[in-house]
Amino acid sequence: MSHRSSDFTKILNNTEICMRELLNIPDNYKVLFLQGGGSGQFSAVPLNLIGLKEGKCADYIVTGAWSAKAAKEAEKYGKVNIVHPKLTSYTEIPDPNSWNLNPDASYVYYCANETVHGVEFQDVPDVKGTVLVCDMSSNFLSRPIDISKFGLIFAGAQKNVGCAGVTIVIIREDLLGFTLKECPTILDYKIQAGNGSLYNTPPCFSIYIMGLVLEWIKNNGGAACMEKLSILKSEIIYNVIDESNGLFVCPVEKKSRSRMNIPFRIGSIKGDSALEKEFLDKAAALGMMSLKGHRSVGGIRASLYNAVTVEDVEKLADFMRHFKETHQ
Ligand code: PMP
Repeated sequence: MSHRSSDFTKILNNTEICMRELLNIPDNYKVLFLQGGGSGQFSAVPLNLIGLKEGKCADYIVTGAWSAKAAKEAEKYGKVNIVHPKLTSYTEIPDPNSWNLNPDASYVYYCANETVHGVEFQDVPDVKGTVLVCDMSSNFLSRPIDISKFGLIFAGAQKNVGCAGVTIVIIREDLLGFTLKECPTILDYKIQAGNGSLYNTPPCFSIYIMGLVLEWIKNNGGAACMEKLSILKSEIIYNVIDESNGLFVCPVEKKSRSRMNIPFRIGSIKGDSALEKEFLDKAAALGMMSLKGHRSVGGIRASLYNAVTVEDVEKLADFMRHFKETHQ
């Protein structure tokens, strides 16, 4: 099926319409479906937006591995100001009152949910009128959002809205056209917007799958319902952790805890490797896969994306409680 065929045009258009409906996206925002993943956006964001103001500066809030990578990438294209003292561990969101925002920054960047460290913003940060850019890769459509507070939002589809291959970019129209001249054409938002995401071949099959997932979200109560389920699912697991007399330890400060990714250690805050291996092996034997923490931090991580059901989560919680009973 050609990406310029009428069949695919229908798929692309319906996917965009459904996303606009689910997130109530205002008309002065473009929705782009691109390739290159979240990592591609770490470059595309500064290449397109750091030139919004002459000084080519951007403010970054760095609360975990992904925003740290984004900040490092942006340094290639301009001045990056990390707005708070460097964190020694990614277990909290630094107090907004302590942020040193630069009024001359072209934009302020943050990651709504740090997938590796399990740190999630519960509110949209107040950045005093500067253009706000957000990586929502791992909590996109897990809650309603007010798009009008953002200059740009991007998200890889593969966590909550489909399979890998397509990256969503939602950008306010007046921010188009400030692209640095060295920006590769396929990362140029203005060119992609001008071509309806069809400057080059888009990830057609991933867009098709995403369209189906968006329909599924719509038929299941939309973003508000995904939020209710996310609260319920995450509370089930956090409760087991908090009631485990210290057998399960979540390093993240309570008010920054993620609803999507719950990292925890077993035995102590540093983790007992024998206990953690036993936990993972026994969970796998029961069909619960992918519970191993990210390789950079170790331990366990329960990811509760939209596709994970309350029943799945209850099964994990039962297993954790049983594990606790047999190890204390
Ligand atoms: N941002 C976040 C929050 C992520 O979780 C990830 C991937 N896990 C990325 C960016 C990078 O995405 P990709 O692998 O699609 O480049």
